[in-house]
Amino acid sequence: MSPGATVFDIERYAVEDGPGIRTVVFFKGCNLHCTWCQNPESHGMKPQVMYYRDQCASCGKCVIACPVGAVRDSPPDGFLTDHARCTLCGACVDACFYSARKIVGRQMTVGAIMDEILKDRAFYESSAGGVTFSGGEPLLQAEAVLELAKRCRAESIHTALETAGFIRWEHIERLLPWLDLLYFDFKHIDSETHHRLTGVPNELILENIRKAAEAFENLVVRIPVVPSVNADMETLSRMFSFLVDQTRVRTVELLPFHRLGGGKYAGLGMEYAFETVANLSKEDCLPFAEAGRRLGLAVGVGAQGA
Ligand code: SF4
Ligand code: SF4
Repeated sequence: MSPGATVFDIERYAVEDGPGIRTVVFFKGCNLHCTWCQNPESHGMKPQVMYYRDQCASCGKCVIACPVGAVRDSPPDGFLTDHARCTLCGACVDACFYSARKIVGRQMTVGAIMDEILKDRAFYESSAGGVTFSGGEPLLQAEAVLELAKRCRAESIHTALETAGFIRWEHIERLLPWLDLLYFDFKHIDSETHHRLTGVPNELILENIRKAAEAFENLVVRIPVVPSVNADMETLSRMFSFLVDQTRVRTVELLPFHRLGGGKYAGLGMEYAFETVANLSKEDCLPFAEAGRRLGLAVGVGAQGA
């Protein structure tokens, strides 16, 4: 029997996570919890009810509809869900005329995901595009990702994977023959700081970057550049030096911080530590990119889709 997976989104016509026009499959569940994460709905493996405050008309129908009393009016935050009590029955979603509630995350078979992927085959062919497996951490559902990558190869569809890399090397290694492109996230060089900001230390990640760059040619390291985390010349220079001195990585993308995910935190009843932090522009990151280039790396700012 083919494995299933929990997915929180399948984005079509994407252009930033690999070459050409792509379908991005977002797997739910992550073993890092970066404080600046733009996809907090990806953290837990289980589906969740998400609430969109700005669409809510405060009609209260969701409170009446919920059979277990899991929705409560919580001014000024709106009609929040007690996730521990919620059984995911969907009654509040159906009761809401304003599309202010949605269940994020669904179980899908590999076959059903492939059906979605194959819908846009013509776009992949005309644009030299393909499929990207993202998350969350897709490798927490490694069996499903492996099966999907094999099926894509059989269909001659280009495959990319984006991982945060806090995972046993074996899960990465056995996938490499079925991948065309690997994006490896790199958040911080100092393990203690990494632990404080993401929930895990970085030694395993650094080791996996080293190994992956040895074993796989088409690897791009992605660094989210985040104020008060790593958006300073000293930290980024140390990260670049690690890549140059200790790995075979030569291509880096700097991804400037933006707050897009902020509203999602409120919708899940979570605190967002970056609510008042200013976005970074591409221009803010150019001096960092220049510093990386001086060390011999090919550094771009923004997702290059390359
Ligand atoms: S999904 Fe069902 S149990 Fe969960 S909050 Fe909505 S109505 Fe209540
Ligand atoms: S049913 Fe929808 S619009 Fe009405 S209070 Fe609940 S979330 Fe808001």
